[in-house]
Amino acid sequence: MHVDLAIVGSGFGGAILAMVARRLGKSVLLLERGSHPRFAIGESTSPLMNLLIEELAHTYDLPRLLPLATYGTWKAHYPELGVGLKRGFTYYGTQPGERLLVAASPGDPCADTHWLRADVDHFLVKEAIALGVVYRDNVDLAQLERTENGWRTRDHGDEADFLIDASGPKGFLHRRQGWKEVGFCGYPNTQSLFSHFVGVKLPSYPWPLPPNNRVPSGCFGWEEGENLLPYPPDAAASHYIFPGGWMWILPFDSGVTSAGFSVEDGLADALGLSEGNAAAWERFLARFPAIQAQFGDAQPIEKWHYSPKLSFRTEHVVGEGFALLPSAVGFIDPLYSTGMPLTLLGIQRLATLLEQGITAEGLASYEATTFAELDWVATFIAANYAAFADFPRFVDTTMFYFAAASFSELARRIGKPELAQGYLLTKNAAFRESFAAWQENKLSLAEAIAPWNVAGLADPGKHNLYGVDLEDVVRGGAKLGKTEAELREVIATAEWARCE
Ligand SMILES: Cc1cc2nc3c(=O)[nH]c(=O)nc-3n(C[C@H](O)[C@H](O)[C@H](O)COP(=O)(O)OP(=O)(O)OC[C@H]3O[C@@H](n4cnc5c(N)ncnc54)[C@H](O)[C@@H]3O)c2cc1C
Repeated sequence: MHVDLAIVGSGFGGAILAMVARRLGKSVLLLERGSHPRFAIGESTSPLMNLLIEELAHTYDLPRLLPLATYGTWKAHYPELGVGLKRGFTYYGTQPGERLLVAASPGDPCADTHWLRADVDHFLVKEAIALGVVYRDNVDLAQLERTENGWRTRDHGDEADFLIDASGPKGFLHRRQGWKEVGFCGYPNTQSLFSHFVGVKLPSYPWPLPPNNRVPSGCFGWEEGENLLPYPPDAAASHYIFPGGWMWILPFDSGVTSAGFSVEDGLADALGLSEGNAAAWERFLARFPAIQAQFGDAQPIEKWHYSPKLSFRTEHVVGEGFALLPSAVGFIDPLYSTGMPLTLLGIQRLATLLEQGITAEGLASYEATTFAELDWVATFIAANYAAFADFPRFVDTTMFYFAAASFSELARRIGKPELAQGYLLTKNAAFRESFAAWQENKLSLAEAIAPWNVAGLADPGKHNLYGVDLEDVVRGGAKLGKTEAELREVIATAEWARCE
């Protein structure tokens, strides 16, 4: 068989790219080393990621992707696919009162999700097959060889003109070509241990909140007093922040919780993390009473996944007859759920190349953008690691993520994507310079994010509790090139501004 495109790796990235390529009229072979369903990590989504899903669904006529973009449509259309409700980003520090809640949506129907990847990836592969993608699993790609005009598999004799590597970090081409890991400049080495659990105790807030909207005191030893919470704190990606690292907690509706932590080498050594087993996990819990209280009775239902070096960056993105998805080029850290949106942005760019014709110039531009985005994310996450020991400093650091993410989302929503080029404003030198100036104490936080702050961020009056308030967006209209009146009109009619 001869195809236009071979895609190696059938995670969510490879499967979605395969669907898009079919819609562009390409013949596609999707090659998978393992088989579905299978465990995969990378579960927590974000508003920008879900907007990218919507954009792909609309641009490439993939209506069956669309329900994955919000919690409400997911539950209505695909109740059989494992999912969790993500209303926002919840962070706890180690001291009483240290917490930050940033809502990502005003309600459950339009909320983000956690993806049970075993279900979702399997679903996407079946969707790709239904669109005419030829799928082969349990393949041994040592058999894939380069030919004069493309690629050929020895076992089936399949031939492809172009190959896209969607096989994740340290994946197919990195190994086959013998490329070196180049690392991220100035980024600390981090290690990680994670699994899926049952029996995790989630703090029990009465929700919806009582009529006075006041939260009872006593969660993790801190008192909420008069402050209002923008969403139930556990219906979120929850994070514990501590010196040397952080932990994520992602609850699924089924009662399964995805959890793990990522720590710098010093703490990893102290925890004996290289054992990568239950004993190492127990030593971690023993350090943090609040986490111990939540996980003391929990049981893993998936094997322990240990990574001695979580971040990864290879040498190349493109070459003669091939390109890598961003997720095969590099990975930094789960903090801020950057992996899947970066992958989707890569898919959008590769789709444009497939549509317009693959040229050396187009590939070079894709490579430059992919490296620039990964490097910027690494710079930013390194700054978070540097702040983990100081929760208020960490909170300030997060504001740059939330400013860039909400600005980018809104710019795209109102049809002005040129205002927010590159993931987290990678291509906006002024934003990156402002971040550096803030780090050097040359700008205050409020000054540094002001040009992109359309979400009422860095407001001491909010006591680290950020709800979604479209009035903030209206007030920020000028930053998005709109008057307040124009933005009010957009919001009044836009489907995304309703949450029903
Ligand atoms: C601990 C951790 C937590 C994360 N959390 C998040 C998060 O919350 N949110 C987020 O957005 N991102 C997260 N990420 C990143 C996320 O996992 C990736 O961005 C995402 O999985 C990439 O999807 P993918 O389909 O490109 O690759 P993958 O999901 O890695 O899929 C690759 C596929 O290729 C197959 N394959 C591999 N090698 C070969 C080969 N030689 N031949 C054929 N097939 C092959 C594999 O079997 C697999 O099916 C996290 C990553 C880690 C490590």
